[in-house]
Amino acid sequence: MSNPGVFAMALEQLEAAAKRLKLSDSTLRVLSHPERELTVACPVVMDDGRIEVFTGHRVQHSNARGPCKGGIRFHETVTLDEVKALSMWMTWKCAVVNIPYGGGKGGVQVDVTKLSKEEIRRLTRRYTVSIMPIIGPHKDIPAPDVGTNAETMGWIMDTVSMFQGSTVLDIVTGKSIELGGSLGRREATGRGVMFNTLELLKRLDMDAGKTSVAVQGFGNVGSVSADLLQKAGCKVVAVSDVSGAYYNQNGLPIAEMIEYCKTSKHGLLEGFTSNCVSKIGRQELFELDVDILVPAALEKQITLENASKIKAKAIIEGANGPTTPDAEKYLLKKGKYIVPDILANSGGVVVSYFEWVQSINSFFWDEDEVNRNLKNVIVKSFDSVWKIAQQEKVDLRNAAMMIAVSRVATAVEERGIFP
Ligand code: GLU
Repeated sequence: MSNPGVFAMALEQLEAAAKRLKLSDSTLRVLSHPERELTVACPVVMDDGRIEVFTGHRVQHSNARGPCKGGIRFHETVTLDEVKALSMWMTWKCAVVNIPYGGGKGGVQVDVTKLSKEEIRRLTRRYTVSIMPIIGPHKDIPAPDVGTNAETMGWIMDTVSMFQGSTVLDIVTGKSIELGGSLGRREATGRGVMFNTLELLKRLDMDAGKTSVAVQGFGNVGSVSADLLQKAGCKVVAVSDVSGAYYNQNGLPIAEMIEYCKTSKHGLLEGFTSNCVSKIGRQELFELDVDILVPAALEKQITLENASKIKAKAIIEGANGPTTPDAEKYLLKKGKYIVPDILANSGGVVVSYFEWVQSINSFFWDEDEVNRNLKNVIVKSFDSVWKIAQQEKVDLRNAAMMIAVSRVATAVEERGIFP
């Protein structure tokens, strides 16, 4: 398939794993269908009195291993097809790192840069009420994703709490620390990207101090990945966001760039200047002569069109679904390593799990404990994926999928089909 829709891409990955695992057709059929798909219309009174209606979704792919878990995306490109794929990937992500969740995902088709903060708040509250019948601390637990953050999670938590009549901490993760969030959650996805990168470098006998990195995306995932990889000794030579790509062959001033984004328009790097930084084309970033490429933006960024120009030895998928299946086949043939999204960016949901556990217990861990436990989970999961890849002579995505799909399939088969 040359340009599959995102859900078709997720299905293609599932089918490849199912074939290798010799999964029964019946179980494959169950896993191919999200359990529940909800589409809602969210009318919002805009600041000028006009009423706009935004379309939102919440999809629950599987609760075979525990409550559904996954973020909520606010972006103008959100579609049901995309949310279905993202919810399926959450199922595999939670399974590959062995946390007791299934997969879910939500999204609203909206360009948040065109809305005021009050409009976003009203939209969030209306969307929350619309999906409230299917979410819950033991049913489906939302979290941040592209276009949402700790503030959004606070509004969701408050909305649900208003209906409940008491504060419901465990309804969302990714909350601010003041509202019962976990230390280390904001940085967790980027920290996981860093741990995964270091694990791969070890296996390839490469030294972090001699490794160059380019990161596509400078949101929560990209910026923290760049920062922590730099702190781990790597040379981060390029980063980009929608405003452009920024380059220095000797390494970028990442801390300064993160500081700049704290007060810049829409948190973008637009207008950032420094005498040691030059601007390059956004596509050029993919073509740089670096060791590691971290796509940390949206799906389908690495396609057959740009794959042939990629010089990096390894791709660490900070984003969900950044590589199309045909681009992946091409890159694997060229001997590249791809640490798949479900492992590479799993740090976020792992610390979400820690946050949920802390919220349920009303007992909070210090940051060292969070980071130590996260490292344990990532190192262990990476190791099991690497071993399966060697044993079965498959690439890392297929290895990760074999572990994940086999865990979920076992849960489905042991529980049996109701009634
Ligand atoms: N949105 C993040 C992801 O795609 C985090 C999900 C969560 O923490 O539940 O993994």
